[in-house]
This record gives sequence, C-alpha cells and structure tokens, in this order.
Amino acid sequence: MKKLLELVSVTAGYRDRVVLRDVSLPVYEKDFLGVIGPNGGGKTTLLRVLLGLIRPFAGTVTVHDPSLGGRNLGYLPQYKAVDRDFPITVEQIVSSGLAGGSTIFRRTSSPERRRIEEILERFGLVKLRRRPVGELSGGQMQRAFLCRALVSSPRLLVLDEPDAFVDSGFSTSLNDILRDLNREIGIVLVSHDIGAILPAVKNIACVNGTLHYHNSCEFSRELFDSLHCPVRLVGHGDIPHTMLKRHGD
Ligand code: ADP
Repeated sequence: MKKLLELVSVTAGYRDRVVLRDVSLPVYEKDFLGVIGPNGGGKTTLLRVLLGLIRPFAGTVTVHDPSLGGRNLGYLPQYKAVDRDFPITVEQIVSSGLAGGSTIFRRTSSPERRRIEEILERFGLVKLRRRPVGELSGGQMQRAFLCRALVSSPRLLVLDEPDAFVDSGFSTSLNDILRDLNREIGIVLVSHDIGAILPAVKNIACVNGTLHYHNSCEFSRELFDSLHCPVRLVGHGDIPHTMLKRHGD
C-alpha cells in the first residue's frame, strides 16, 4: 500500500522539553489510523508533527504523496479549543478551510462556492449556513468544523478527540461518516476510547512518550498460539477482531 506520510525516528516537543522520543510511523493512503494513549502521552504533539505545525528536534517527516505538498491535510481540532464567542457564521467557518486561506477578506471563486455548497449539503448544514457558531449545538459545531477540514478536498483527515456526533436533525454517527469518508481519503483519529473507534480502524498507534505501532490483524487460533505472550482481545460486532500485543514483547 502507498504511503502518504512517514515519520522516522522523530524526537519532538516544546523548547527544551522532549515529549516524543524516537517515534516512527507510516500513514498509508486510505489508512484509518487510531491514535490512543493516556492524557499527556503526546497524542496532540504527534498530530502537530504530522500537520507540520511543529518541527521535530530530530528525525524526519517525509511527505510521500505530492498532493500533500504544503500539507494539504484536513484538521478537526478538539472541541474545547473552539471559541464560541467568536462572531463567525457556519459558512464563514467552512470557507476559511479553503486552500487559499481565509475568505473573510476576499471573494470566493465560483468553483469554491460550488464546493462550499456541496459540502454544506453533504453534512446537512445548508439551512444553518448563516447561523453564528455561538448558537450551534455541539454536534452542529463539530459538523461545521468537519466541513471546514474537508472543503479543500484533502487526501488525509486528522481528528483530535471528536465527541459523539449525534445531534437532533442529523442522526448519522461519526463512525458512519468516517467510514464513508475513508473510502476516499486517509484518516488519523486521536481517541481516548479504543472501543468507540474500533469498528473502522485499520492500524493503531499507541502513544506514551514513545510510540508502539500495531498493524491490526484478524484473530485466528494459530496466530494466538504463536504469540506466546499476553494479548488483549477486543471484539466489536461483526468486524474482524483486533489484538494488541503487550508492548515490549
Ligand atoms: P495528549 O494529547 O496525549 O494529552 P499532549 O501532546 O497534548 O498529550 O501533551 C504532551 C505533553 O506536552 C504534556 O505534558 C503537555 O503539558 C505538554 N505540552 C503540550 N503542549 C505544549 C506546549 N505548547 N508547550 C509546552 N508543553 C506542552
């Protein structure tokens, strides 16, 4: 499978503080990478490295896919990072995600307007387009920011701990939305709840100062017997079961 992005032996953090040590991670085309780990373990820092927002102290970040040049990545920040008092409408939020940057101070082109229309339609926000963000429900706000992340048609969508998406008038769950998007683009999703993301996830990165990468694999008796180590088995509906080997084995 083709790699979109790759971190090799990355050490990163803030000023003189190392948060991630010697982290290597491939992100594949149409990957669905779940990032899990304890609070303060460095998950958001890992996303910042992936997004090119912070430069590693050591190691390399290679962008393999030319379409990600200039890091054309969609980013859905943590809900708590959103300022509800900022006087901006749904449509302005979405258009601020266009590749050319903010459209508050420039006119949108007609292809851009068509794209905004298409994305508002897809996520059921057409009727709310002129609503200020301060008047949205949590779910509506998240959908607006998801539209912003997707309006520039990125090949990779990065989400930092999205809450449950279900809100009145729009009953599709986040998992359904992401599964649908994942047919077209890669997804990196930080979550504290592995159970919630498991139905759709293809690979898992476990982050706690360093990173352990798990290729998700289908459970079989032979595989289980061959491991000779403690495993945690997580089952979810009719999807293939995923086992996470204990780190260090
Ligand atoms: P997680 O997302 O897993 O909760 P973070 O990557 O947010 O972890 O944080 C990892 C560590 O880095 C924490 O100890 C946090 O306090 C520290 N940290 C996060 N952001 C900054 C920053 N901008 N400046 C200095 N330290 C930071």
